Amino acid sequence: IVNLSGVRKSYGALTVLRDVSLAVERGAVVALVGRSGSGKSTLLRCINGLEPIDGGEVVVDGRRVEQNEASLRQLRQEIGIVFQSYNLFPHLTVERNVTLALSLVKKMSAQEGRAVAEKVLSQVGLREKMAAYPEQLSGGQQQRVAIARSLAMQPKLMLFDEVTSALDPELKEEVLKVMEGLAREGMTMILVTHEMDFARRVADQVVFMHQGRIHEQGPPSRLFAEPETPEFRQFIASTL
Ligand code: ATP
Ligand code: MG
Repeated sequence: IVNLSGVRKSYGALTVLRDVSLAVERGAVVALVGRSGSGKSTLLRCINGLEPIDGGEVVVDGRRVEQNEASLRQLRQEIGIVFQSYNLFPHLTVERNVTLALSLVKKMSAQEGRAVAEKVLSQVGLREKMAAYPEQLSGGQQQRVAIARSLAMQPKLMLFDEVTSALDPELKEEVLKVMEGLAREGMTMILVTHEMDFARRVADQVVFMHQGRIHEQGPPSRLFAEPETPEFRQFIASTL
């Protein structure tokens, strides 16, 4: 469902992505790992068109990602993205946070929107918090609302960028559980994570980025057991 070929990206003189090629099949869970600055977030942002690329090609669901409004609008509807900071609207209820884009973008009625909100909030275990405001929720709950908000748009692909990094351990766990549930239900997901146990357990493919390149990739069972490069070996050691 995602095909990157020869993707290059620079910020001025700084080359951040060098010849990145990656194929992600429908239903697959891909974990992007690597040191700070290796280009993981940039790669995610190139996939959903948030960043223009300087070379190569990004194809999502058979369509080439272009920097024009029609292409980007289409993409935003098909790809959900969740970041470390959840960016909920503080003055809106959980329900309204989830349904806002449905009414604005999908022109759904309030009634239809509510049905969708009930469904996706149940999926993340927060159905009973529909009427709450973000500040009344824990960080983990807010992050789950952010995930529900993305799911409401019925994306074909979900991108997660270190969604648990800002959370306390016990809150991390509840967010990871939601992500694991999504994976089990067949959602295609590309996630940047520092949770190596999670990557090991849930990912079909682990992609190790190093200095803007895919340095190693493969199923976690093989990759973690037999890292081929010293860089990946060092990286694993640094996460233990
Ligand atoms: P981290 O684990 O710290 O989140 P990352 O692997 O996600 O790191 P990126 O955020 O993709 O790394 O950044 C890769 C490189 O690109 C870094 O050197 C960063 O400073 C640089 N960079 C990222 N965004 C920009 C920008 N908008 N302008 C200039 N440089 C940028
Ligand atoms: Mg990052």
